[in-house]
Amino acid sequence: MNPNLAINGGSPVINAAPPSWPIANNAIKEAISQALADGSWGKYESRWTEKLIERLQELYQVEHVLLCSSGTIAVELGLRGLGISEHSEVILGGYDFPGNFRAIEAVQAFPVLADVITGGWVLDPLEVQQALSDKTSAVIVSHLHGQLAPIQELKKILSPLDIPVLEDVCQMPGAQFESRPLGCFGDVAALSFGGSKLLSAGRGGALLTQSAEIYQRAKIYNSRGNEAFPLSQLQAAVLGPQLDQIAELNKTRHTRALEIIEGTHGTEALGPLRQIARGETTLPAYYKLPWLLDDVKSGWPRGDFVRAVQAEGVAMDVGFRGFTRRSSRRCRQVGPLLNSRVASQQTILLHHPTLLEPSDYAALVCEAINKVTRGV
Ligand SMILES: *Cc1c(COP(=O)(O)O)cnc(C)c1O
Repeated sequence: MNPNLAINGGSPVINAAPPSWPIANNAIKEAISQALADGSWGKYESRWTEKLIERLQELYQVEHVLLCSSGTIAVELGLRGLGISEHSEVILGGYDFPGNFRAIEAVQAFPVLADVITGGWVLDPLEVQQALSDKTSAVIVSHLHGQLAPIQELKKILSPLDIPVLEDVCQMPGAQFESRPLGCFGDVAALSFGGSKLLSAGRGGALLTQSAEIYQRAKIYNSRGNEAFPLSQLQAAVLGPQLDQIAELNKTRHTRALEIIEGTHGTEALGPLRQIARGETTLPAYYKLPWLLDDVKSGWPRGDFVRAVQAEGVAMDVGFRGFTRRSSRRCRQVGPLLNSRVASQQTILLHHPTLLEPSDYAALVCEAINKVTRGV
C-alpha cells in the first residue's frame, strides 16, 4: 500500500472539487431574463424553439430539425422516422450508450452487435459488414469519447445496399469531419442537450435529417394531439448562446485533451485515444476523454484505479458496460466481440469540464493520473 496516494491518506494532487458543469455566462443569463420578461418561460409556444431550429439547420446544414425531450428519445424517433419495423435487425456497437440498445427494442426490432475498432470505441466497418443480413434495416453509428466513427467507410458499405445510418452525435456537438459537421453524414442524426452534455439544457434532444419523409414519420409519432416529447421554450432559450460558443470551446477542449494525452504518455498500462480521422479540417468534440486501462499491466483493478484518481481530485469515471454479456435472446452477437469486451472492461473517462481549465490545471491532472499509475 502506497501511503503517498490520497486514497491511502496521502495529500491529493488537487485539493479542490473538480470543475462543475454547466457554466452560466452573461449570454445565458440574458436569454433567461428575456424569457422571463416576455413570459415565454411558461408558454407552450414562443420564438425560442423556432430560433433554435433555425440555428441547428444552419449549423448542421440540414433541412429538418425535430426538437425533443432527450437524446435517448431522439434515437428512438430516428428509428421510427426510418420506418424500422418489427422483426427487422438494427446493428450497433458491442460497446455503446445503453439507451441505443433500448431504442431498438422500443421499436420492436432486434439488436445485432458488431465489434468496435481495436483499442477504441467506435464501429469497425469490416465487423459491420460481417453483421449484415437480409433483415438489416439500419445501423446506429455513435461517435464516442472524442473518437470519430469511420462514417465514410461505413457509408461506402451501406449506401449501395440502401441501409440507412442513424448517426449518434450526442457526445460530439460541433465536431467536424473534413470541414463538415458530424451529424450531417447519417440519414438521420440524434443530438442530446442533457445536463452533463456539451450543450446543456438539463434535458433535451434533437433529431436532424435531410429527408422530409423521415422527418414526417418521426413528427407524426411525436404528435399525440400535442407534442409527446417536447423541448420547452426555456430550454431552447439557454441553448442559443451555447451554440454561439461551441466551436470555440471545442477548440480549447481539443488543445487540452492533446496536452493530457501527451502528459500521461509513457506507461504501457494506459491506452490513449487514437484519432482514426485526422487532418486540419477535422475537429473532434470531447464529452469524455478516454483511455483503456490494462489491469494486468497496471496492477490496478479498474474500480480501484478510478477511486484512487478521484481521491487525487480528478473527475474520472468508468465507461459504459457494453452489451457483450447480454443474452442471445435479446441480441445477435457477431463474432467474439473482443474489442467491445476490452472497451467495456477497461474504459476510464475524464469528464469534459476539466478540459476547459487552463494548462497548469491539465498538468496537475496528468500528475494525478501518473501518480496513481506508477504508485500501486
Ligand atoms: C448521452 C447520450 C445519449 C442520450 O442522451 P440523453 O439526452 O441523456 O438521453 C445517447 N447517446 C450517447 C452516445 C450519449 O452519450
